[in-house]
Amino acid sequence: MQTDTPSQLPRSKLKSLLAIRDDAPRLSSEWLELMRFLASYYQRPLGESVIGSLPPRLRSVKPLPRKAVATSMASSPQEFKPAHTLTAAQADVVSRASASLGRFEAFLLHGVTGSGKTEVYLHLIARVLERGGQALVIVPEISLTPQLETRFRQTFPGAAIALLHSGLEDVARTSSWLAAARGDASIILGTRLAVLAPLPKLALVLIDEEHDTSFKQQEGLRYSGRDAAVYRAKLAGCPVLLGTATPSLESWSNWQQKRYVRLELPERAVPGARLPEVRVLDLRRETPEQGFTPSSVSAIAARLERGEQSLIFLNRRGYAPVLACEACGWAAGCARCSARMVMHAAAERSREPHGRLRCHHCGAEDAIPRACPTCGNVDLRPMGRGTQRIEETLGARFPAARLERIDRDSARRRSDLNRTLERAQRGEIDILVGTQLLAKGHDFPGLTLVVVLNADTALLSTDYRAAERLFAVLEQVAGRAGRRDRPGEVLVQTRYPEHPLFAALARHDYAGFAQSQLAERKAAGFPPYVFEAALRAEAPKLETAMRFLREAARRVDRPEGVQVYDPVPHVITRRAGYERAQLIMQSSSRPALQAYVGALGAQLFDAAHREVRWHLDVDPIEFD
Ligand SMILES: [Zn+2]
Ligand SMILES: [Zn+2]
Repeated sequence: MQTDTPSQLPRSKLKSLLAIRDDAPRLSSEWLELMRFLASYYQRPLGESVIGSLPPRLRSVKPLPRKAVATSMASSPQEFKPAHTLTAAQADVVSRASASLGRFEAFLLHGVTGSGKTEVYLHLIARVLERGGQALVIVPEISLTPQLETRFRQTFPGAAIALLHSGLEDVARTSSWLAAARGDASIILGTRLAVLAPLPKLALVLIDEEHDTSFKQQEGLRYSGRDAAVYRAKLAGCPVLLGTATPSLESWSNWQQKRYVRLELPERAVPGARLPEVRVLDLRRETPEQGFTPSSVSAIAARLERGEQSLIFLNRRGYAPVLACEACGWAAGCARCSARMVMHAAAERSREPHGRLRCHHCGAEDAIPRACPTCGNVDLRPMGRGTQRIEETLGARFPAARLERIDRDSARRRSDLNRTLERAQRGEIDILVGTQLLAKGHDFPGLTLVVVLNADTALLSTDYRAAERLFAVLEQVAGRAGRRDRPGEVLVQTRYPEHPLFAALARHDYAGFAQSQLAERKAAGFPPYVFEAALRAEAPKLETAMRFLREAARRVDRPEGVQVYDPVPHVITRRAGYERAQLIMQSSSRPALQAYVGALGAQLFDAAHREVRWHLDVDPIEFD
């Protein structure tokens, strides 16, 4: 250990060393370089970023639990038992990508749903394990890890696999992290936080469902797990593969600009399996009853008769989004947010026979009022439909069907979710009702029908990314249908059947859709044609937040080529009692924007701002 390195800081700012951990492996300079880059790029202090990247147990000076240190991961990675032989297209992808093992190269693996991307991952990992390297596999959601973990364990019975995500118990996460950091674990599977683990033998990075917005952290170090993983591969000098059926427009444009190499899996892997047929149902012609058009109902009935599965997709959980009084127009709102309370049915909480009101923005809960607080009317009505209400409707319509709902409420306990997903895979469920939790990556062999209930809210959004996300989620959820020999069908209920997004969806034409979206983005000056950062502030009073943003922007000289917009309140202005506003900065030059954001950050960190909470978000994706 070096003791004679002079510090640039004054002695008064230095702290004494309390202890030195010798029960954990030393962190490499390459890893520190990664953390330095992320801290500077995303404008957070290095110390905070480093500490935040460690499992909670390693953040203190207390000795590690013996169980965490003692768990040894012996690996005999030579065993490789693939379940299938590769199709010609898969084999091409594997040979092209594995040709760059040992050097950095970024691949966009654009494979249609059901094209067997996982099989490609497995074969690439096998090549890495042969060479004694580590493979990092990141997925957007914890719920996707059990399925992959099972595949990995079956395929590589001898390999040491470390899971890294926030759903793990402390000790398990610490021992996984240690195994990764020592180089004992040869496959590291996890969510975005796995990207920050030290991996001394890193030889391959795989990012599954790369388009997914969950890769972006929304607090503290607001990093993109996807972008950090690409940077990490560059540091390690190894290939990175970004897999998806619906690439993010950033990645698509990276391919167009030759920064990524595109590899394609244009067909489904199972012989004879085709992409599902998409039909748009015009809600102006077919009047829906309790949320379903007659065509949707008969399509579900036909599946039940044939013993096939249906999936009803609705991106809105709860019973009803609004509880309202028809007599005076009152609607239940959250006292702390500028948002409505969502009515939740009683099913999940038997102690509350009438259900609860819940705010989806701050988590506030309230009892359902017996009467309208404004006019006293006792006949309050739930308006609109959430997954619980759809489940209720289907239960009444098809009483014999085995029905299961999957959303963040039903999946409170991870083990329950996994059990339900396994039952669905075994065909023990006839109708699945769910949110986008169901859309991601799952494989239900018996599923032949997908009904999309309300996609229209996203079409009307002011967020320029809404169309990209809607296309991705619809293509993903549609991709659950007909993955085996029986053909799949997708019904989309909408009031805007002529919308070009649905036409592209019906043709499964991602390239055409991306082309038109990118043309719009270019004309409007949005990413990926410019780089963006946001400065956000929140305070009990909106004016305080707005003033803070105006003054912050005024205090730093704006270089040529950087655009700073006027501060604006968030669409949902008040959340959890705070009024929120933001200002957006843009530039076509990333270095120019970085320099400006850096100067702004330094200036704000130095001054004390007691009356506002603020943060910088580089490459922001949420604007609500
Ligand atoms: Zn009323
Ligand atoms: Zn609220």
